[in-house]
Amino acid sequence: LLRIDDVYQSYEAEQVLQGVSFDMQQGDVDVLMGPSGSGKSTMLRCINRLTEVDSGDIWLGDTHVTAPETDVNELRQDVGMVFQDFNLFAHLTALENITLGLKRVKGVHAEQARERARGHLDQVGLGDQTDAYPAELSGGQKQRVGIARALAMEPKLMLFDEPTSALDPELVGDVVAVMQDLAAGGMTMLVVSHEMGFARSAADDIHFLDNGQIVESGPPEQLFEQPEQDRTAGFLSGLQ
Ligand code: ATP
Ligand code: MG
Repeated sequence: LLRIDDVYQSYEAEQVLQGVSFDMQQGDVDVLMGPSGSGKSTMLRCINRLTEVDSGDIWLGDTHVTAPETDVNELRQDVGMVFQDFNLFAHLTALENITLGLKRVKGVHAEQARERARGHLDQVGLGDQTDAYPAELSGGQKQRVGIARALAMEPKLMLFDEPTSALDPELVGDVVAVMQDLAAGGMTMLVVSHEMGFARSAADDIHFLDNGQIVESGPPEQLFEQPEQDRTAGFLSGLQ
């Protein structure tokens, strides 16, 4: 479903991604880990064209993501993104945060959009918070609204950029549980996260990124128990 092929990316002064390649099949859950500044967010941003690559190719199914003529708005309907800091509209209720995109981008009629949004809020355990404003929700609830909003667009692929790292520790579990549900339901997910619990229970493969290169990839058992590279081992031992 997703093919990342030899991607290089730089900002003016700085080479960030230096030949990143990996593939995901439909239904795969892959986790990107690595030190701060290693290029994890940049990698995600290249996949929905928030950032342009210098060279290399990205394919999402039949869509050549990195081709200049690709319709970015169409692409972004296929790629749901969940951010660390939620990015909810503060002046809209939980329900309205979800219906907005359904109406504006997908052209769904108001009543049907509300019905679908309620369904997605139920799915993330927030069926009773439809009329709450973001300020009235906990961080974990806000993040679950963010996930419901992304899901409502029926994406082929979901990208998560450190979805739990802004949360108080006691709120992480609810968000991880929603992500585990999604994974079990067959959603294709690429997740930047250092949550070992999620990685162990849900990841098919973990990619360890350092200095813009994938140092090592493998299933969680292999990466956590028998990493081949010293850099991987050193980084992971710092997490536990
Ligand atoms: P973190 O774990 O801190 O989120 P990361 O692995 O997500 O780090 P990126 O955000 O992808 O790292 O950043 C990689 C490098 O690119 C960093 O050195 C960062 O300073 C630089 N960078 C990121 N965004 C920009 C930008 N918009 N302009 C210039 N440099 C940037
Ligand atoms: Mg980042």
